[in-house]
This record gives sequence, C-alpha cells and structure tokens, in this order.
Amino acid sequence: MNRRKFYYSFLSASLCLTLAACSTGNTQTLVQESKETKPVAENHQTHWSYEGKTGPEHWGELDPAFSACVNGAEQSPINIEISQINPNKELDKIDINYQPTKFTLMNNGHTIQANFKAENNSIILDGTTYNLVQFHFHTPSEHQFNGKNFDMELHLVHKNDTGNLAVLGIMIKEGKENEALSNIWSNLPEKETEKDIELNTTVNLPSLLPNDQKSFIYNGSLTTPPCTEEVKWIVLEQPIEMAREQIDAFQKIFSDNHRPVQPLNDREVTKQ
Ligand SMILES: [Zn+2]
Repeated sequence: MNRRKFYYSFLSASLCLTLAACSTGNTQTLVQESKETKPVAENHQTHWSYEGKTGPEHWGELDPAFSACVNGAEQSPINIEISQINPNKELDKIDINYQPTKFTLMNNGHTIQANFKAENNSIILDGTTYNLVQFHFHTPSEHQFNGKNFDMELHLVHKNDTGNLAVLGIMIKEGKENEALSNIWSNLPEKETEKDIELNTTVNLPSLLPNDQKSFIYNGSLTTPPCTEEVKWIVLEQPIEMAREQIDAFQKIFSDNHRPVQPLNDREVTKQ
C-alpha cells in the first residue's frame, strides 16, 4: 500500500469511527475534512479501485460526482456480439493519422499512461477531428467480443476542440513481442508516480495499430470514475499482440484493472 492510500485508509477509518456512519453522502465531508487537516491532500480525489468496497460495483456510491457509474444508461465497456452487428454504410471511414511522437509516462495508481502534448496525432470521425491526449492499458480487456475477454486492452484517448472524447480501443492478445511498446515497457513505473517521467524517446504510434482497421462504433462512457457519458467509442476488431513477458510485466504492477461489461440497453453498435 502506498503512503497516500495508507493515509486515506487511515483517515477514512478514523472518520468512520468519529462519524459512526460511512454511507453515501459522507464523501464530501471526508474530502473537506482532509483538505482542512492536511494541505497535501488539496488535490485529493475520492479513492476508487478495482476490488472490494471501492471496486466497480460501488463506484456510484463513493462520490455524488460518480453517479453516472450507477445511473448511466450508456456505460462502457460492453460485450460486442460480433455476428449481430450490422455494417453502417453511411459512416465515413475513420481516418487515423498517427506519427512517431514524444511522450511522458506515469503510473496514476490505476494504470500506466503515456501523455502527449503535441497535437500531431488525430482521428477524424464523422468529420470531426479529435487529437490524441493519452493512451493507457487495462488487464484483462474491458470490452468483450462474444462474451470473451482478451489479455489486455489499449485505450487511445482523443479530445476535440470542444472537449468531447473519442476513445480508440484495441484488444491485445498473447503473441509476438510488441516492439512499438518496448521503450515504454523498459521504463514501466512500478509505483504511483508523483510527476510524469520524461523519456527522451518517441513511441511509434502507427506501428501500434493492427493492419485491419475495421471497427465497432458505439456511444459510451469513461470506464473509470466519474464514468462520464457521451464518449465516442471505436473498438478495432483485429487485436494486436504482446509477448507473454510483456503482459506479465504489466500484470505484476496491475493484476486486474478492468471494469466489467455494462448493459447495452437500447444502444446500437455499428460496424465500419
Ligand atoms: Zn481505459
């Protein structure tokens, strides 16, 4: 357990005792208390995790700001039943414009994430340009194809001028070593990072993509709190590969950082 988590657990435990109740609604109190008692906690955010009392089943109760996690009707990830998806001929082809780019690396306590400052990588969806801001990983995969998870999933998060998000999801299966990720994998931060690690190298973004870019498209959400909706999802059908050693190295840091699949409700998934 790192110091921040330890501090928070200790704080929660003490406050629970003092307040004699730790139900929904006390989160604000907790946050305010922690601000008052410890200046370091000014950027404190509600603690959430992938297991136990702060796991995915409870995200919606942890903070009023996380209510979409439990009340949302268009949540991600989802299971994609491939045989039931109809192609949408009216959709323009999605343009993915990537190039080798410098990045910084972080372990945010939930995943390993590469951040991008340069606005030279974009996808064009329905005529709108979204710029790449970061990518990160989950294990096992969050989306399922025909009820099955892959070993891992890569999420490339893009934002347009008005702040709307489009996430490109790529499944990862065990296979050949992924050389596009070797720079990152030789620098994987095992502990939560205080600030981004500057690496004097680039990541070859085009070579991260599978050859076949046929994709499933649907309207969903962030798969982490606050589970904000109106996120455009583009999930590529063809997986990419990573060596068993690479998957093991990630799982040594995060053994499971995936949110289970959410109800499709009346959404439509199209193929393109
Ligand atoms: Zn993600």
